[in-house]
Amino acid sequence: MQAMILKKLKTPLEWTELPDRQPGPNEIRVKVLACGVCRTDLHVVDGQLPNPVLPIIPGHEIVGRIDAVGGGVKDLKMGERVGIPWLGHTDGTCPYCLMHRENLCDHPLFTGFTRDGGYATAAIADARFAFPLGEVGSDVSIAPVLCAGLIGWRSLAIAGEAKKIGFYGFGAAAHILAQVARWQGRQVYAFTRPGDAHTQSFAKSLGATWAGGSEDSPPEPLDAAIIFAPVGALVPLALKAVRKGGRVVCAGIHMSDVPSFPYSILWEERELLSVANLTRKDGIDFLSLAPKIGIKVTTKQYPLHQANEALADLRGGRFEGAAVLTP
Ligand SMILES: [Zn+2]
Ligand SMILES: [Zn+2]
Repeated sequence: MQAMILKKLKTPLEWTELPDRQPGPNEIRVKVLACGVCRTDLHVVDGQLPNPVLPIIPGHEIVGRIDAVGGGVKDLKMGERVGIPWLGHTDGTCPYCLMHRENLCDHPLFTGFTRDGGYATAAIADARFAFPLGEVGSDVSIAPVLCAGLIGWRSLAIAGEAKKIGFYGFGAAAHILAQVARWQGRQVYAFTRPGDAHTQSFAKSLGATWAGGSEDSPPEPLDAAIIFAPVGALVPLALKAVRKGGRVVCAGIHMSDVPSFPYSILWEERELLSVANLTRKDGIDFLSLAPKIGIKVTTKQYPLHQANEALADLRGGRFEGAAVLTP
């Protein structure tokens, strides 16, 4: 197998030839068909997440076809197309797992961060954490759904019954979630980098009621806002944009420091909270709903060996929607 490997933090991934791997008990091996490039991969490469494991193959939006099955695998079979997401394993026994919050497990493994991911021609996964995908939809268009879609979905659920909802940062996640929110009958307000007219018109083309810069005030107070961009300075801006009792959800795994702000913008029962990881139920719920919504995923494809270019383009905001690697 071949892979793009992170050998040292803050250095480019290296194209590497590896011996083929065999799945262990309860594991599957897939031939990777497509792997999305998520902002979290940038945080992994940059060393912004705690306790990194090196060397590591990044990538946690894997669409693959099973070509080897380990002992004890019950629900998946050879030849089946599956999705492998960020949550790669949990212990099943810690207090969080037992309270149905496996996204907060004390002993998790995360695909492409603490276990090898999908920037490769093959990947091994814990079968219990892989989703059967069926055969509808292209590999490339499904890949971004596996993180941008799923964690976005969790964020949207946590945002609550908001009719008017703001998205700060209109990239892979927001462009999928805007379509979900519209389908649910919500109004979407898109906040982009100041002056980014291109992304603002992209947001409007996906049904946003309003699009503007992150420092702009929306035309009316919002019921909730989700911050997808890893920028702490957006927190006070989003708090100012929501009405009394409104909720601000931080959807990213990493964010720059949040600047201090006057208590008055949190006062009146505004809420500020974060979303961490996903549960398998989030995945099952969203993957069954997505075909009904008819989500159109905008992608930019890169060959696997150009993973560094894809990451650089993501960092520079140089494409719409989501980047996807294909072997
Ligand atoms: Zn646990
Ligand atoms: Zn991700």
